[in-house]
Amino acid sequence: MQLICIKWLIIDWSAIDIKNGECLLCPRRCKIDRSHDERGFCGAGAQAKVALVSIHKWEEPCISGKKGAGTVFFSHCNLRCEFCQNYAISARGYGVEVDAARLAEIFLEQQGRAVECLELVTPTHYAPIIIEALKRARASGLNLPVVYNTNAYESIEIIDALSEYVDVFLPDLKYFSDDAAGKYSHAPDYFHFATAAIKKMTAVAGPVIMENGLMKKGVLVRHLILPWLYKDSIKIVEWLWATFGSDIYISLMNQYTPAHNAFSISKLNRKLTTYEYQKVVDAALELGIENCFIQEKSASSTDFIPNFDGKGVLPVKL
Ligand code: SF4
Repeated sequence: MQLICIKWLIIDWSAIDIKNGECLLCPRRCKIDRSHDERGFCGAGAQAKVALVSIHKWEEPCISGKKGAGTVFFSHCNLRCEFCQNYAISARGYGVEVDAARLAEIFLEQQGRAVECLELVTPTHYAPIIIEALKRARASGLNLPVVYNTNAYESIEIIDALSEYVDVFLPDLKYFSDDAAGKYSHAPDYFHFATAAIKKMTAVAGPVIMENGLMKKGVLVRHLILPWLYKDSIKIVEWLWATFGSDIYISLMNQYTPAHNAFSISKLNRKLTTYEYQKVVDAALELGIENCFIQEKSASSTDFIPNFDGKGVLPVKL
């Protein structure tokens, strides 16, 4: 198996500040050498780790379309939110290590399943390996739109490096308040970095291009409304509208349900109320926001959490 060395790939990128092979891929800037098995906040190693390769039919309609998104779920995470529904892979790191060659094969296998797009889920901490795999896959015929589904805690240099490989950016904008971002995702500087990253995504992706109801290019920002924080959510909606107007799409998510450590955190230990969600939707309507997806209440269920069993990661032996 080929080892993709994080240190080497970073050194190859003049746009990224590197010192002695230290990992500076995201705003945490852990400065550890992943190529020598050191681990930073995210827990990711030198190789990419994938937890599930699947077809996802429940993303926004412009992403999933009729045939579904070809999802690749990456293990580990640089935020590790206290309420993460995918904690089995984000916090516990379940997954199977793959090199760039196998990752490229996985991308092409997804294309062979006639999906609408290739969707990379929580990819930030593997960006150099993903770029290498996308290069290889493209050389072998990959022509699906590539969707980069990220928590947005990203460095703008990485977004720049991704710009020629990613068609659609699908970032979260999770928090307005530094206090909530610190308490629930260990990142009090989240709003600062996430908003800078989303501005960069919008600059490099350009205006949204839709074809037959499918997003082929552009930015769709997701916001999951949290219990007790709907006033922060309204501030986020106001910021998105004031900053981007109709240049981006917005998705207001109603699917919060307690998971992981949220059961022992009093402000996170319940679902969202209809009142809270409706207040945010009403604010969006009053602002005149166009291009906004909203969700039905039935979306808040653990039934929608995938079973992360490593399916599709290893090659099928004939
Ligand atoms: S990608 Fe991981 S190791 Fe690198 S800076 Fe971010 S959290 Fe730290």
